[in-house]
Amino acid sequence: MPHDFLQPLTGSFAMPAGENPTVAMIEAAFRHHGLNWRYINCEVAPEDLGDAVRGARAMGWRGFNCSIPHKVAVIDHLDGLGESAAIIGAVNTVVRQDDGRLIGENTDGKGFVRALSEVTAPAGQRVVLFGAGGAARAVAVELALAGVSHITVVNRSRDRGEAVAGLIEERTPARADYRPWDGPFSIPEGTGIVVNATSIGLYPHVEATPDIDHDSLTPEMVVADGIHNPPLTRLLQAAQARGCRTADGLGMLVWQGVIGLKYWTGLDADAGVMRKALLDLGL
Ligand code: NDP
Repeated sequence: MPHDFLQPLTGSFAMPAGENPTVAMIEAAFRHHGLNWRYINCEVAPEDLGDAVRGARAMGWRGFNCSIPHKVAVIDHLDGLGESAAIIGAVNTVVRQDDGRLIGENTDGKGFVRALSEVTAPAGQRVVLFGAGGAARAVAVELALAGVSHITVVNRSRDRGEAVAGLIEERTPARADYRPWDGPFSIPEGTGIVVNATSIGLYPHVEATPDIDHDSLTPEMVVADGIHNPPLTRLLQAAQARGCRTADGLGMLVWQGVIGLKYWTGLDADAGVMRKALLDLGL
């Protein structure tokens, strides 16, 4: 039986890297689909990022993920950006083209929209988005490109909140505004989608919940959380108790993996296999 010992390589550059579960999810998909590929989780310091990218080029890596702190800095080492990555100004997935060029994409928001789409179609809806960090920025841009009509950005620090709302207004077809977050926030009537894109509720602070007036949540609303650990956050528990449908952050993470694999391999990976790989880790 013929062998091919030259495995196509993918992976991740981040620091710290040891707690990132993506390798388990992606390699489970490779195994499930019979792909003789590898995903190598690498800890790369900021001053070594250029060398790491040159190394990936030299070794013919098919692509790689970038996480904290490289999502913006990696852009200087690439040959081009996809549409939403250019608007967001950050890259978390690099894809090697057939001609060898490295193109930066951002799957944070794409994964979110894909997971949300299993619960509701975003087009035409009004959104309240909590948070204005990197994840919120990516989610806002992809929701806007997916056709939501309006995004209200609610964030603790005004400058970051206004920056995200301004970006949506200037660079996408959607409308947006900023609202301060100085007490329990009441979700306006007519809102279809409520998103927590802050880090509130992330393990080990699992008791924490965004300061939202739960009485303002109504059953027509879909409530989505970017927190993947734990998947069933306090916010989602409260939303379900109010009769809302929900989308969890584990779905966002899994769909990012599915989209990344599609970029690299052309394969439509089985999201259920990837979600199970993460749940088997105890997430
Ligand atoms: P950032 O540090 O860039 O942003 C954090 C955001 O949370 C800011 O808007 C910050 O507000 C807000 N925030 C933090 N603590 C509080 C608080 N106590 N009260 C009010 N607001 C608060 O982080 P990221 O955007 O990169 O990540 C945010 C979350 O999204 C993380 O928990 C991460 O795990 C999750 N995430 C999930 C992914 C998935 O696939 N499921 C993918 C990417 C991220 P301020 O601006 O005022 O500081």
